[in-house]
Amino acid sequence: MKRTKIKALLATTDFGNEVTVMGWVKTFRNNQFIAINDGSSIHNIQAVVDFNSTEESLLKRLTTGASVAVTGTLVESLGKGQRVEIKVKTLEILGDSDAEKFPLQPKKHSLEFLREIAHLRFRTNTFNAVFKVRHALAFAVHQFFNERGFVYLHTPIITASDAEGAGEMFRVSTIDFDNIPRNDDGTVNYKEDFFGKTTNLTVSGQLEGELAAMAFGDIYTFGPTFRAENSNTTRHLAEFWMIEPEMAFYDLNGNMDLAEELLKYVIGYALTTCADELEFLKGRLEEEEKLKPQQERSELDLLSKLNFCLENSFERITYTEAIEILKQSKPNQKKQFKYLIEEWGADLQSEHERYLVEKHFKKPVILTDYPKDIKAFYMRQNDDGKTVRAMDILFPGIGEIVGGSQREERLEKLEQRMSEMHVPAEELSWYLDTRRFGSAPHAGFGLGFERLVLFVTGMTNIRDVIPFPRTPKNAEF
Ligand code: ATP
Ligand code: MN
Repeated sequence: MKRTKIKALLATTDFGNEVTVMGWVKTFRNNQFIAINDGSSIHNIQAVVDFNSTEESLLKRLTTGASVAVTGTLVESLGKGQRVEIKVKTLEILGDSDAEKFPLQPKKHSLEFLREIAHLRFRTNTFNAVFKVRHALAFAVHQFFNERGFVYLHTPIITASDAEGAGEMFRVSTIDFDNIPRNDDGTVNYKEDFFGKTTNLTVSGQLEGELAAMAFGDIYTFGPTFRAENSNTTRHLAEFWMIEPEMAFYDLNGNMDLAEELLKYVIGYALTTCADELEFLKGRLEEEEKLKPQQERSELDLLSKLNFCLENSFERITYTEAIEILKQSKPNQKKQFKYLIEEWGADLQSEHERYLVEKHFKKPVILTDYPKDIKAFYMRQNDDGKTVRAMDILFPGIGEIVGGSQREERLEKLEQRMSEMHVPAEELSWYLDTRRFGSAPHAGFGLGFERLVLFVTGMTNIRDVIPFPRTPKNAEF
């Protein structure tokens, strides 16, 4: 089936040629103008049929959603809104779409409604743009690391270690729930399970990533991760994709530099390769913002916000400095925060993160050196005995987008912290081997891919930047 993609036709100035286009009908107006989209561009091509010489029954089948093949001459358009159009010679309906039943009518649908028909929402302008940007960002991530000699490592999806504690885990099992094998004492006999022990879906590839970094130097993972956390927010999914670089001979500063460079690189890539899509999404966001009260609207439009992020260095402050700022802040003094900041050691909630980023600094912020008690066991301990070499990157409208740290490379310190936090050392013996044999300073971070896509597309619900979202009580499609 030979066809030319609409994106190429819209860019051409080569008029008079015969071309074939295949795509889906967006609208059919005046018994004459078909707007066709084939997904290659957010823009449609207009095909003009001569209704005098076309069968009435065929014209009737030109309904929104129908798939068509159109052959005709590419001509300069006289109408407004497009530069080129096709003068139709032959028209074939490849797949009908019953206008009465097709849920996507040519009008504005709410994002909530579109989520319910996620199998069809790809055909809307909004989701065409969102998933093009998502693709571009994924491609840019690989390009960034490839250019820098990082090895793309595939860490396991099914893991036997549930020690990291990054989140609640999903159990992987083939046990028949109607006929559970039991030990004499009544407990479940997992020796009978598929792997002969309990296994889970991974919450992070970091621990395995560290093993490879201790051989390749620089590695990254980019894969799905799963968290059974019952948090029904606009920023949490039960299944999400994470990018996790891990680098030997890196300290926290190098780690922050790399994360900032990565974010700027991929945002810059989207700006140059998805100009049409981002222009459309900018307009979409402006429409959405009009519904909000003036003081809640963002000061910058989508493109300005992305460019601002590229042109300014991220603010770097310690957790301790952040606590001081928050304590003095208006919403804390006036008791407007849901969780008031009273003392050092408090875990920061998203309201605090957003205050720092959106109100105080008005730019991305990297917070470092968190209290050890609110961070994972593997983070490098500072000499003060209280804090660890952690860093979180906070973005406007998003909150935490990156979480990372310099890792504890000293075996004794690591073992001591594991025992304090009741992390079973025997189960992680393989992990501790990296510290036993040629341990080296190293660092890494995790970038939540959907939070990145949220930021770049200006969408506001994480369910709208992954094709088929999985959230509590929802796993459709
Ligand atoms: P949060 O406090 O927002 O739940 P976290 O501290 O649990 O995040 P990490 O364990 O550090 O996050 O994971 C690294 C990154 O993965 C986060 O910075 C975020 O971008 C992303 N992330 C974490 N949990 C989720 C989730 N449930 N859905 C989507 N992205 C997530
Ligand atoms: Mn979390």
